[in-house]
Amino acid sequence: MIVPYKGKTKITQPYGVNGHRGIDLSAAFGIGDLTITAVQAGKVVFAGWNTGGYGNCVVVRDSQNRFWIYAHLSKVLTKFDNNVIIGTELGIEGNTGASQGIHLHLEIREGGWDRPNKSLDVATILGIPNVAGTIISNTVSQPEPTQPQTPVQPQTPIVNKFTYIYNDKVLELQKILNRKNNVLIEDGIFGEKTLDEVKKYTIEYHDRGNLTKWTQERLTQLGFNAGYPDGYAEEPTMSAIYAFQIANKLGTATRKGFSYLGGEDWYFLCK
Ligand SMILES: [Zn+2]
Repeated sequence: MIVPYKGKTKITQPYGVNGHRGIDLSAAFGIGDLTITAVQAGKVVFAGWNTGGYGNCVVVRDSQNRFWIYAHLSKVLTKFDNNVIIGTELGIEGNTGASQGIHLHLEIREGGWDRPNKSLDVATILGIPNVAGTIISNTVSQPEPTQPQTPVQPQTPIVNKFTYIYNDKVLELQKILNRKNNVLIEDGIFGEKTLDEVKKYTIEYHDRGNLTKWTQERLTQLGFNAGYPDGYAEEPTMSAIYAFQIANKLGTATRKGFSYLGGEDWYFLCK
């Protein structure tokens, strides 16, 4: 069966009972997403306010001259003359027009949408069980909607800005990391694996060792005076870390009285 929703919906009034010319569905009250999607391809022949009681309404004419009416919408998401395919977003379920309670009235009319006496059995055509209270969802996969989607704003800059880095300092870093936990290929390429590995470590006040020495050298190369690279994270190394974080608009987190290096800082330190 195919359903005019992205997820689950409930049959609230079956087709044909007490002269009902369509089927009523609702995903409200926590059942599912209220976005109404096309169940049949075609062309939008009406999109807007219907004075006859359908409220905000979308009508799609298909290739068999059947008119698919999506009524009582809170919002219309398509326009007159648009071509739609199965899955195209048409509107949002609502309670507009002659409606008592939020729901979608879905109806098919043959030969013209001004012919209420020509309604077809929408439940049978869609393969929906014509029983009130039944919760249904699509059993056919719907193609992606053709409408442009709102671009997702980057949340984590590292994922979006990540570019592979290749240099001698990365090779040195990989060798140092492999002495601790031998999992990296020493190829001088800073990719996700090297980042994941180095993110296990921080450089904090009083740290000492090869990774601290490497960090001091790198900070100084980048113009942040970390002092003599002796492998001891004291002043001025800690001040250099802080200055580097501020200059690169990275977050600062303080421990032992100093902002320490870690996380995605490593990526920017390799760049
Ligand atoms: Zn209805």
